[in-house]
Amino acid sequence: MLAEVLEVALPLLRPFVTSFGATTTRRTVLVHIQDEQGHEGWGEAPALDHPFYLPETASSAFAVIAEHALPLALRAGPDAGPEEVAAALSPIRGNTFARAGVEAAWWALAAEREGLSLREVMGGMRERVPVGQSVGIHPSLEATVEEVMAGQARGYRRVKLKVKPGWDLELVAAVRSAVGNDVMLQVDANGSYTLDDAERLARLDRYGLACIEQPLGWDQLVAHAELQRRIATPICLDECLRSVGDVRLALELGACRNVNLKPARVGGISAALAVHRLCREAGVPLWCGGMLESGIGRASNLAISSLPGFTDPADMSPASELFAHDLVDPTYQVDPDGCIAVPDRPGLGFPVRDDRVAAATVRKAVVEPPAGDG
Ligand SMILES: [Mg+2]
Repeated sequence: MLAEVLEVALPLLRPFVTSFGATTTRRTVLVHIQDEQGHEGWGEAPALDHPFYLPETASSAFAVIAEHALPLALRAGPDAGPEEVAAALSPIRGNTFARAGVEAAWWALAAEREGLSLREVMGGMRERVPVGQSVGIHPSLEATVEEVMAGQARGYRRVKLKVKPGWDLELVAAVRSAVGNDVMLQVDANGSYTLDDAERLARLDRYGLACIEQPLGWDQLVAHAELQRRIATPICLDECLRSVGDVRLALELGACRNVNLKPARVGGISAALAVHRLCREAGVPLWCGGMLESGIGRASNLAISSLPGFTDPADMSPASELFAHDLVDPTYQVDPDGCIAVPDRPGLGFPVRDDRVAAATVRKAVVEPPAGDG
């Protein structure tokens, strides 16, 4: 079996600004496998290129995949399915993006081997997935409102605004008054507030937000439970939820009432399916977040978003708005009704452009299967 890990650099059409700073080139990590019969699997480990979102970075994911995750996965044997590969990767602590990238390749491989779509192998039902817009931090309110209204015109089902202390109340007031009360609106702070800001955050309650995402620090589960008692807007967690156990604990503590599920952040599709079951049982709104993935990472996010427990629109702006060229062609698109069609092609569902991957590759490592496995 061929198994390789590639780091690719994808220039963004426009810088994406959050409370961490600006991203101008998306460096991301791909996993590519091919079996003896020629069936292929592609996965993406979409850690960011800095440790300001979570500790893991593109560089650390590349190293962990090359040195640990791919060798462990290959040891599961040439016929292993994705759940077996997830189990084989479980001795790796943390490093969720690295594990997820490897597992995702085996999900796509399994789908291709069985002649099924990724949606079918994951048990998804919906053929179309509603998506929302994620609006970065702009130099002015006017520029933000303009981007929001452009998104509304394109049919997005939800508006999410990146906020930070000082770029919050006026912004939300301006956007709420521009879009009216019927549009689903939420904010994402990426952990930039503290409990001392509770009163300020409570002033957002009057705008009918669907949720405020990750207001406090990435490891502040108990503080989020305290904040949730002091504000009416549901708290959604992102950075705090890095495993199935984290989600269970957050729900038990009352630290959130809404879940942003990024499969790669919780360690892969198998863990994401478990989070989906948990949120469905608890009746908690659930949606799929985004990491500015290439079409390869979006393919599995799109497939899992077709499961019934994903109640809210996903973060998935079209690749054509992010990159000059996606790595898959044709790529996905957002239709005028604010939905993306989930492909029913077998395997990954989107044809990977090997030439574009090769042109974007900045480094690559080939991992040999253990002797005797061919
Ligand atoms: Mg977030």
